[in-house]
Amino acid sequence: MVESRLVMKFGGTSVADIERIRRVGRLVEAEVARGHRVAVVVSAMAGKTNEMVAWTDAAGRAAPGLPESDDEYDVVVASGEQVTAGLLAMVLRNMGVPAKSFLGWQIPIITDDAHGKARIEDIPPENLTALMDAGTVAVIAGFQGRTPEGRITTLGRGGSDTSAVAIAAAVGAIRCDIYTDVDGVYTTDPRIEKRAKRLARISYEEMLEMASLGAKVLQTRSVELAMAHRVPVRVLSSFTEPGEASADTGTIVCDEEEIMEKRIVSGVAFSRDEAKVTLFGLPDTPGVSSRIFSALAEAHVNVDMIVQSKARTADHANMAFTVGRRDADRALEIMREVQKDIGFEEVAVDADVAKVSVVGVGMRSHVGVAQSMFKALAEKGVNIQVISTSEIKISVLIDAAYTELAVRALHAAYGLDQV
Ligand code: ASP
Ligand code: MG
Repeated sequence: MVESRLVMKFGGTSVADIERIRRVGRLVEAEVARGHRVAVVVSAMAGKTNEMVAWTDAAGRAAPGLPESDDEYDVVVASGEQVTAGLLAMVLRNMGVPAKSFLGWQIPIITDDAHGKARIEDIPPENLTALMDAGTVAVIAGFQGRTPEGRITTLGRGGSDTSAVAIAAAVGAIRCDIYTDVDGVYTTDPRIEKRAKRLARISYEEMLEMASLGAKVLQTRSVELAMAHRVPVRVLSSFTEPGEASADTGTIVCDEEEIMEKRIVSGVAFSRDEAKVTLFGLPDTPGVSSRIFSALAEAHVNVDMIVQSKARTADHANMAFTVGRRDADRALEIMREVQKDIGFEEVAVDADVAKVSVVGVGMRSHVGVAQSMFKALAEKGVNIQVISTSEIKISVLIDAAYTELAVRALHAAYGLDQV
């Protein structure tokens, strides 16, 4: 009999109605029968959080001139998870499995006070471990916590992944199983490339890049936490038959050292949520970039890729950078303000761009990875506008119309259909 603690997390589509919650109940029951001491983290029913976010918009949360009420936003949007936690605990009890629900504040999951995107600071594990070890399943509302003062917070969209990993770290779970509507992490989005393959294993670092580059399987923060606490995470389908999950089911996110098969590139990610801002004819003097990016940072506009080059006229430079598409208008406004101050010639915004990236820890030890990428894109006639790299990824910004073509070309170029 295994007697280790296990955290199981179910996303919105897995708990979308009572029938599916019963299915989740059977998956939990099977793990209990295997001897696990289980904590379950649930999302709200699919679509519920969106609906509540829309209500808060209608109620004027972000209306200009009104005092910010992001703390009340959290009160509203955290409520979806309360419903599913209660329902799952009820269903489990009716199956004869002892269970008890918990909201974030009841554990408590202590966060900072950044309402709407709070970060977990502490989870005292004693209550949970005592309950789990006594054979009761703890059913925990994901996505929520409370400030040290006791106000409700939420962890950002997709945040119940982070709740689950944080709880797994706190209770010393052997693994955090994330049940979702896909059966694992793929080499790329199978809707774009039919030959995409499920990866049996992927390293924390690669998953972190994939998540932040647009692969939507796991919230980025949850991968950071898993990496920091060395919690193995498994992504698997909630349509797995109860009791059938084996070592080959889903994708395990783990330490690089635990991965036997050596690939140079593990995946191709893409994001269409980008916009490119170009500044022409900037004075080429110290302090200019600092003023531009300080203004953006003050307005909480995240900047991703940046390139600067000499302009044709002496003493001038051109610069291009990317921001999230949602922030494009804000960025333009801010640049018009900055223009008054530092005086560049022109600003242009292009939202018809996409970022395509290849990710792999093998890049650290192999040469020619970038060259293969550029060659594959050139052969398809795809023009590269901006390039950025890190130790384990290369990203290019291209015309959005070529996204699918580029993804497929790169998937083939690195032999990912054969992994
Ligand atoms: N229900 C929240 C959301 O839709 C949290 C989650 O599902 O992870 O973002
Ligand atoms: Mg999710």
